[in-house]
Amino acid sequence: MDPVIIAIDGEASTGKSTQAKKIAEKFDYNYRDSGAYYRAITLYLIQNNINSNDNISQSVLNQISIEQVYKDKKLSIYLNGNDVTQKIRGFKVSVNVSNFAKKPEIRDFVYEQLRSSAKSNSLVIDGRDIGTVVFPNATFKFFLLADPKIRAERRHKQINDKSVKLESIEEEIILRDNTDSTRKIAPLKKADDAFEIDVTLLTIEQVFEKILSKIKSQ
Ligand code: C5P
Repeated sequence: MDPVIIAIDGEASTGKSTQAKKIAEKFDYNYRDSGAYYRAITLYLIQNNINSNDNISQSVLNQISIEQVYKDKKLSIYLNGNDVTQKIRGFKVSVNVSNFAKKPEIRDFVYEQLRSSAKSNSLVIDGRDIGTVVFPNATFKFFLLADPKIRAERRHKQINDKSVKLESIEEEIILRDNTDSTRKIAPLKKADDAFEIDVTLLTIEQVFEKILSKIKSQ
């Protein structure tokens, strides 16, 4: 049987990874966080003083090795053997990642990782362009969106750090969505055949129920 691919695309901080993990758990599939690849690459490039205006050569990309390990409902990200799971969520990576993610050489690098993961495994993958570009023939496609204010409030609660202002989170989310949806290559947009869910007024369980019932009905 061909591997099943479930694409969960959508705006920043709409709970895509939470839903993707729940689906992976339910069906015993593997999980890939495509954004985590872009974040880990961004971390490496920042650490090596490489700017998003620079051309990223193949020899630089060859120095980057990223591994995602999904085990016991937890995803760990390794960059050249070091666990960077927490580090890639920091503010510096978050404000820079979209500028690196615009670059075709970086996107090709990530596409290769994702497509090779899917060769023998059924996968749930969250991202921006999984259903439109990376796996246009995915078995199921979902697209999540929500009011930016609500997304910022939810993330502010999660971060649980009073020094990070709610307004800065909201600004960062809006800016990132804007950069992601206006870029020339693989912009953030709903695939024509994706099932859209506005999660603004829904709980995690309610969103999950909608996803499950769609999968079961198909
Ligand atoms: O999913 P997450 O918010 O961690 O993604 C971080 C950034 O990585 C996004 O804002 C976007 O710039 C980039 N990204 C992308 N395509 C994907 C997943 C993420 O361009 N499929």
